[in-house]
Amino acid sequence: GPRYTAGPAVLRDFLELTAGHGDRPFLALDGRWLSYRELHAAAAALAHRLLGHYGLRPGDRVAIAMRNLPQWQIAFWATQLAGLVAVPLNGWWQPAELAEALDDCAPALVVADAERAERVAPWLAARPDRPWLLTVGADRPAGPGERRERFEDLPEPAPDQRAPEVAIAPQDDATILYTSGTTGRPKGVVATQAAWCAATVAPRFFSATAALCAGRDPFTLPPQVTLLTFPFFHVAAFTTLFPLMANGGTAVLMHKWDPQRALELIAEHGVTVFSGVPATALGLLDAADQRGLELPSLNVLNTGGAAAPPELARRVARRFAGRVEARNGYGLTETCGGVIANVGPRYLEHPESIGLPSPALAVRIAGPDGGALPEGAVGELWLRGQAVFRGYWNQPEATAAAFSGDWFRTGDLARVQDGEVYVVDRLKDLVIRGGENVYCVEVEGVLHEHPAVAEAAVLGVPHPVLGEEVAAVVRLRPGAAATAEELRTHVAGRLAAFKVPARLLLTERELPRNTVGKLLKGELRAGFGGS
Ligand code: ATP
Repeated sequence: GPRYTAGPAVLRDFLELTAGHGDRPFLALDGRWLSYRELHAAAAALAHRLLGHYGLRPGDRVAIAMRNLPQWQIAFWATQLAGLVAVPLNGWWQPAELAEALDDCAPALVVADAERAERVAPWLAARPDRPWLLTVGADRPAGPGERRERFEDLPEPAPDQRAPEVAIAPQDDATILYTSGTTGRPKGVVATQAAWCAATVAPRFFSATAALCAGRDPFTLPPQVTLLTFPFFHVAAFTTLFPLMANGGTAVLMHKWDPQRALELIAEHGVTVFSGVPATALGLLDAADQRGLELPSLNVLNTGGAAAPPELARRVARRFAGRVEARNGYGLTETCGGVIANVGPRYLEHPESIGLPSPALAVRIAGPDGGALPEGAVGELWLRGQAVFRGYWNQPEATAAAFSGDWFRTGDLARVQDGEVYVVDRLKDLVIRGGENVYCVEVEGVLHEHPAVAEAAVLGVPHPVLGEEVAAVVRLRPGAAATAEELRTHVAGRLAAFKVPARLLLTERELPRNTVGKLLKGELRAGFGGS
């Protein structure tokens, strides 16, 4: 396989590095495959069409509103070959949410599957500049005044199709990704070519580190087969796909998260890597336990995007007797995905930690005045490095607030110990109970150690005297029995009394999560009636 000596300068260079994978399958969906060769040819052909037939100019935005279909990746890479800005849109957004983002980024062309094409059609029809709509799997012909074409009607790309010759510079904007909106309205995160190129390196660095820990040659890793549970529009999908593309691996796609279907796909494709948020990983393990499955092909269980309960790493080690390595990566949309990760034996030794930063990243634990706090002290996690975004689209004030000089303020509370980073909570989730800080992540981790607990969310609710009080919502495993009082006693046996949830609701329903599987604490808080 190819070896990489110099890092890419623009994403086009990164894609070119994968040309040598030829007929290896890149994507698998419903028994169909897209090879690397097909990806290259189709993306190059579409890039020509974007600049020629559709008349797009460098810097124009191309929005992608599609579920995880192969055409998503073709459209994305076409933008990167054409010097355009890709804007992945959340596939679950309804017309009003889509319109808000489309108003914000004003694309010259939208690529959409049949369902989403109908959701964006009213917005397109109302635009005087008549943006193009390129549909995938939609039957309806163009209506009057519509500039609409079908992906399926595009000319077949020549097998040796080359990309257009356009100048793309490292400082050019490559993407606008909207944050997942767990703490407010989504913001358009603008990342440059250089930021993404730095971001392609970090996850590869982490898998190389893990290989070295396991005594394997990091340059000759076998191509992995990864079950991708993240939607393509979320930054975690990019973090999953970069190392996979670098060594010619295959991503197995699914229409929507379903643990039973995931188990079938793992067996059918000999999946070696699972990639998802901790909640989906736990759901997968539960489903495998229920059916007594060994998952013999699996060797890595990768989680990221939200705090992983320490119990997850221990459970993976116990269940697979060391055969499957658990990993946990930390990142934000604003850092182009995973930039800090806990891999190899370290993860099991320190399952509360998110691990070590990638070498290209500087970390500061900032005190209230922005100064660096000493080892062990909790402050805001600030990050500096090439993978950091350049600002929020159309939001100069939010951009100014997110930076202190060239440090990006993550909004997460963390501490550093022996070089390892521990995220203790999000600033916005921190519960301040009568002046004492309670970190939700810590209490959630302890709740997850109780065998009856399937899901746990800890949050602050208003209290007349203390200001805030600790509350929890817990879903028990099917068939498990535990009372709220038992769970409170369990927490009290491990943590100080002020951290024990004063109010603990048991529920049979799955906890509310956003489209990537992150807890929506705002909705849960409303469930406590604000009292
Ligand atoms: P919004 O900013 O709109 O609320 P969001 O912050 O959920 O959306 P993302 O960029 O997807 O959007 O999420 C980044 C956040 O996810 C981080 O700030 C952090 O709080 C959390 N996170 C990601 N990975 C981890 C991890 N491994 N451990 C703990 N927290 C994590």
